[in-house]
Amino acid sequence: MVDRYAIVRKIKQYAEDNNVPIMLQEGIDFLTTYILKNHVKNILEIGTAIGYSAIMMALVDSDVKVTTIERDEVRYLEALKNVKSLGLEDRITLIYNDAFNVKLEETFDLIFIDAAKAQSIKFFEMFERNLNRNGAIITDNLKFHGLVDQNEDEIKSKNLKALIRKIKDYINYLKNNEKYKTEFYDVGDGISVSVKK
Ligand code: SAM
Repeated sequence: MVDRYAIVRKIKQYAEDNNVPIMLQEGIDFLTTYILKNHVKNILEIGTAIGYSAIMMALVDSDVKVTTIERDEVRYLEALKNVKSLGLEDRITLIYNDAFNVKLEETFDLIFIDAAKAQSIKFFEMFERNLNRNGAIITDNLKFHGLVDQNEDEIKSKNLKALIRKIKDYINYLKNNEKYKTEFYDVGDGISVSVKK
């Protein structure tokens, strides 16, 4: 019998030791509760990293399936190893590619966007065609470690300033997108849930 908790702890430790950004505990709790409450069965994740959130989502229920995309080879290989160590390879499909090169025919109950934060509008527009009726698009890091709410003049790095502007643009995009009803949650690093109207 595999000790799932021990393996998950190891994955989190690897992320910490190797500076791999993974979802905060509060965010994971929110996401897994959402999956359970809404009977989500098929999930598309953009941004696998080392498979932590994909694994946590798949562990919600034995009939949850996750397809997840990662463009970084080292992270993808680590994710592959982690998924196998938990015996989840039948339920988690890992795609090693840039998400912008991936065309999927399948539709999903939930699309979780957790990749390059400056590109969220593009991911949203590219993958919304893969969303089921009544499906939801969830996005993480809308607070970006508190920087989104900080006075812009206090942010010294030009690149960081540009990134924060892009996240603000995405928030406005969601607020003004009339095809979806978006709720914003002050949990973890800031999460939005956009449900098709
Ligand atoms: N969801 C993961 C978790 O919580 O365990 C964390 C994902 S991490 C925040 C973001 C990941 O997205 C990085 O590993 C990065 O390489 C990947 N990424 C960024 N842009 C991407 C793209 N265009 N296509 C595929 N992967 C991308």
